[in-house]
Amino acid sequence: MATSTPYTRFQTTLHKVLTHLDLEDGSNELFNEPQYIHKNDITITRDDGSTQAYHAFRVQFNNARGPFKGGIRFHQDADEDEVKALAALMAIKTAVVNIPFGGAKGGVQVNPKELTKAEVQRIAREYVKTFQDHLGPDIDCPAPDVNTNPGIMAWMRDEYEQLTHTYSPAMITGKPLEFGGSLGRDTATARGGFFILQEMVDRLALEPRELKVALQGFGNAGAHMAKYLHEAGYNIVAVSDSQGGIYSPEGLDPVRIYKYKQKTGSVTGEYCEGSVCDIDRMKLDNVKTISNEALLECDCDILIPAALDNVITEENAGKIQAKYVLELANGPTTPEADDILEKNGVRVIPDVLANAGGVTVSYFEWSQGRSGEQWTADIVDERLKRVILDAYKAVRREARRQDMTYREAAFSVGIKRMMDAMRLRGWI
Ligand code: NAD
Repeated sequence: MATSTPYTRFQTTLHKVLTHLDLEDGSNELFNEPQYIHKNDITITRDDGSTQAYHAFRVQFNNARGPFKGGIRFHQDADEDEVKALAALMAIKTAVVNIPFGGAKGGVQVNPKELTKAEVQRIAREYVKTFQDHLGPDIDCPAPDVNTNPGIMAWMRDEYEQLTHTYSPAMITGKPLEFGGSLGRDTATARGGFFILQEMVDRLALEPRELKVALQGFGNAGAHMAKYLHEAGYNIVAVSDSQGGIYSPEGLDPVRIYKYKQKTGSVTGEYCEGSVCDIDRMKLDNVKTISNEALLECDCDILIPAALDNVITEENAGKIQAKYVLELANGPTTPEADDILEKNGVRVIPDVLANAGGVTVSYFEWSQGRSGEQWTADIVDERLKRVILDAYKAVRREARRQDMTYREAAFSVGIKRMMDAMRLRGWI
């Protein structure tokens, strides 16, 4: 069997849903490949005077519903296939939450942790120069993704405005608050996922206090989610980051874990220095270290992957004890794993719905950038809740009507909305 890639994994779900929808001849092809793939090498001068080139991509999947929208990641593994898959997921996601955007993604194949801040800034500016003709508030609006942040968005906005001699705060989102950002953007992904989980728990008349949660990844998405869950009374039994994790059946305090992570760089920092742990203290607190693989299979009710893609696979899906999986990460579950989870009665709230709070508040930021308004945190929160719960309800309804998993239902809702726009444009 050929090995799967992020894009073939996207296509597996896509084709399943397209077959189910039984679309008329020809329209399937519109979803098979992105509308545009822009790629180029970008070259910067390193601090030592040498020059270095990096592969860079901007993949624009579909803009039937509005300007292309999607983050830019700086990562050594960001290749064309991965960026294509992420762009496709963005197109589905913006349609699922029904905001007037299409889907895109960008990437630079670089490990920014090996560069100085000045070198990262040169890459950011060079990226905008390279793809300038394809970007703009009405064309394609990037945002942060893995290893990019508000500071990098500020450099990109500045570069774009200098090149085009315009004032264009809406050309990019995820900017610093004092430079055209929106209140609530930093917490939006977790907040959206939390609203969905809470709605589901309420409907099922479950008690948060009795629900054990395991969270993989303790960055922007994971750490904020942990805080919201803790405040709402859920029992967080396991958390992890790239260095490993900790587990306690009695529950962990994410606020304390966050403080130690800030100080030591790891969620295990309260108990361990590197691989050396204070076993006596751990026994006293009934805490043990846990690997990232073991975390996925631990005794919990709700599993939240919030780090990497491709972590729930054919190999471990059958061992997952959680009854609910909320995908804050993009692409954490393979199609084969999806089938196993479905057979085992595990409900998966898919990435294109669960983590769509981020792009929703990006849309709010874009709107504020265009109108010059500054919304309060309460307004952002209230509007996010409405958008994300409307999307959740549409997906739930579709799943019930079409007898689909939530992932298939989300794809179905997204594809139908994209097709409506394409039909109105006369593309089909
Ligand atoms: P981040 O860089 O802030 O955090 C990533 C976390 O994952 C860190 O705690 C890191 O230590 C951990 N991690 C890295 N490698 C790991 C490994 N091998 N095992 C376990 N943990 C590991 O990133 P983020 O913004 O929180 O994004 C996390 C995921 O959520 C990504 O898949 C991203 O695409 C997705 N996402 C994020 C947003 C957003 O707004 N931040 C929006 C949509 C989707």
